[in-house]
Parts: sequence; C-alpha cells; structure tokens
Amino acid sequence: MPVIIAVPKELAPGERRVATVPEVVQKLTKSGHEIWIEHDAGTGAYYPDNLFTAAGAKIVSSRTELLNGARIVLCVQPPTVDEVDLLTEGTIVIGFMNATNNLETIARMRDRKVTAFALELVPRITRAQSMDALSSQATAAGYTAAILGADNCPKFLPMLTTAAGTIRPATVLILGAGVAGLMAIATAKRLGAIVEAYDVRRAAGEQVRSLGARFLELEINAEGQGGYARELTPEEKAKEQQMVSAAVARADIVITTAAIPGRKAPLLITKETIATMRPGAVIIDMAAESGGNCELTQAGKTVGEHGVMILGPQNLPARISFHSSQMYSKNLQSFLALLIDKDGAIVREFTDEILAASLLVHAGEVRHGPTRDLLSGGKL
Ligand code: NAD
Repeated sequence: MPVIIAVPKELAPGERRVATVPEVVQKLTKSGHEIWIEHDAGTGAYYPDNLFTAAGAKIVSSRTELLNGARIVLCVQPPTVDEVDLLTEGTIVIGFMNATNNLETIARMRDRKVTAFALELVPRITRAQSMDALSSQATAAGYTAAILGADNCPKFLPMLTTAAGTIRPATVLILGAGVAGLMAIATAKRLGAIVEAYDVRRAAGEQVRSLGARFLELEINAEGQGGYARELTPEEKAKEQQMVSAAVARADIVITTAAIPGRKAPLLITKETIATMRPGAVIIDMAAESGGNCELTQAGKTVGEHGVMILGPQNLPARISFHSSQMYSKNLQSFLALLIDKDGAIVREFTDEILAASLLVHAGEVRHGPTRDLLSGGKL
C-alpha cells in the first residue's frame, strides 16, 4: 500500500510557503508514495499545480478529501483545530508546531489521536542537519533582512569611486550572530558594506571574522546549554548595552536577530540609543515576533523616530517563498527518510533519536514535557 502524503495550502495570513516542491514530489513518487497536493498550494511560492502534476502528484480541490484521506500531512504552519478535526486517527502531521502558541490545536491532536512531529524540536546534531528547518528558514530570513535593510537605506552599501565623487561604504551592524545573523553578515558583505557584529556567545566571533566582518568583543561569555545563549546578569547587561549602543550610533543599518528560545527577546536598542543614531539609519528587528530587540519595534509595522526607520517584519522566509519552500521541502524529505523504511512502510517505533525528540503528540499523549506542563496548567 503506498503511503498517501498530503500537502495542504497554507492559509495563515502572509504565508506564501508550501511544504513540498515538485522536485521533492518526483523523488517521493519514485519511491512509491502517493502525493496529494491541495489545489493552489504552491501558487504563493511560484510552483503552480501543473508542475506538481508533471512531478507525479494528484491535485485535490477538496480540503476535506485531502486531509481525510492522508496518512501523512506535511505543513509549514501548525494545523488549525478545524483542520485537525478533518484528520483520521493515526494521521501523522509534520511541520512547525509552535506549541506554546497553539495549545488548543495540540490538545485536539492529542484527543483525536493524531501524531505530530514538530520540526523546531529536531535536535541540532550533525546527523539532523539536513532536517534542520529552523536553520534553513533562518538562512532565508537573514538574507531577506539584509536585502530589506539595503532597500530602505538612503545610501549605497559599497564604496564607489565615481566622477561625481567618492562614496564611503555604509556600515551594517548585526546583533546576534546565529544562523540568521551570519547569513545577514554574509549578504551585507557581498553588497560591499563594512560589517560589524556582536553576539553574547564568544564562539560566534570566529564565524563572524571568517565572513570578513568585525566582531565586537565584550568580556562576557554567555554561552549556555546546547550552544544557545543564557540570560545575562544585570551588570553584564549594562556593559553590553554601552558597547552595543556605541556601535548602533555609528551604523547605517542595524539588523537584530537576538533571541533566547522560549522567552521574550532581549532589549538591545533603547529609545535613548535611537536618538543617537544617524538620520536615515534603518533598523531591521528580526526578533519583532518575540517582543523585539528594539524598544520601539512594532511587529508587522514600520515606525519612524528621529529620522530612523524601524522595521518589525514578520515571517521573513515567506518573502523569499520559492527558495525557502525548496529548502523546507528538502528538510522534510530527509525527515521522511527516517520515518519511512526502505520497504515504503512507516516505522512502527519512533525510537530514532531525531524522531523521538521531535515527537510532540502520539497515541493520545503529549510526548513533549514542557508542552505537556503548559497544557496541564491551561487545563485544555
Ligand atoms: P537563535 O535564533 O536562538 O538566536 C540568535 C542569536 O542571538 C544567537 O547566536 C544568540 O547567541 C544571540 N543572542 C541571544 N541573546 C543575545 C544578546 N543579548 N545579544 C546579542 N546576541 C544575543 O540562534 P540560532 O541561529 O537558532 O542558533 C543557536 C545556536 O545553535 C548557535 O550556537 C548555532 O551555532 C547553533 N546551531 C547548531 C546547529 C548544528 O549543529 N546542527 C545548527 C544550527 C544552529
């Protein structure tokens, strides 16, 4: 029996990505699986229905038929409660689950005995790199943030020597040099800017320098468990604030990416610092969705203050939907290779380290401890 893998059209506002692309569909159908794509699912990412059909997929117009007949559902955004209600018991859903903000959906998946794998829970180990959707989408976001900064900056980024005079290169500052920050650094460098970067993790310094950017040093090492940042002490915060503020004041474009998983984003740029910035400077706050790294950021909006433009973009990967979908789709293809064995059957036990870590809901139980705790607090 072929495994029926369904891909619904993403309905969240502003979401243009699709969970699979024709290239991956072709590989999956060759392996004997049946791929059902909801009509128009790829339109926002410029993969029209006919390309999916040519790759061997079946286009399904009815959402009910699609979700009801699927064995596996691939998505980008978490399903809604209504979508979960269309799934049959035992269906496997794979995608970003953003559990903290979707407890009602998680509870419904538990109650309907749907199995959910959350891609954000895939461990960041070497073997899981090809399935690391957080990284692939952060790469897309970092690139897009740098382009957005350049587009909103009233200056050239590279140095120019012209008959009309010499133009000094722009200075771009990146705060937070994780996956997105490093991509923003690389992109701003390619555009010819002088790039400075800062991260609380000292280990990031080497990566920043290898991209040709200057790493701002502070006598603090705030690397916590698993390579993620820990929270800083009040004294450390004050020192950091001083150094960062001076760098912000000399920058033409500031891109902030600082995040601490599961917590509100740290405040790195205050109102007072903004008042010291150059007129025409641009801030791209990539942490807008988790509270913002800049005090004046408004998620989804552009705010002007003292001649400085502060952008709080949401869902940056959706702006580069063609390639972010392609990368995401490849992540899912690798994930499916763990879930489906060589004979084309879904594995019986999710004992593989990667499957076990990303298993959010299964057989009527929430398997992820922190989500289970949140649910029991909320009593859903
Ligand atoms: P993230 O999105 O969680 O955070 C972005 C960056 O902001 C991080 O580098 C963090 O250190 C930094 N940050 C947090 N607070 C800050 C502050 N107050 N000031 C300045 N910077 C601050 O990060 P991410 O991109 O998901 O990466 C997190 C870690 O995981 C990194 O160490 C990265 O190298 C690692 N990683 C490993 C793998 C792998 O081994 N497969 C893959 C991806 C990422």
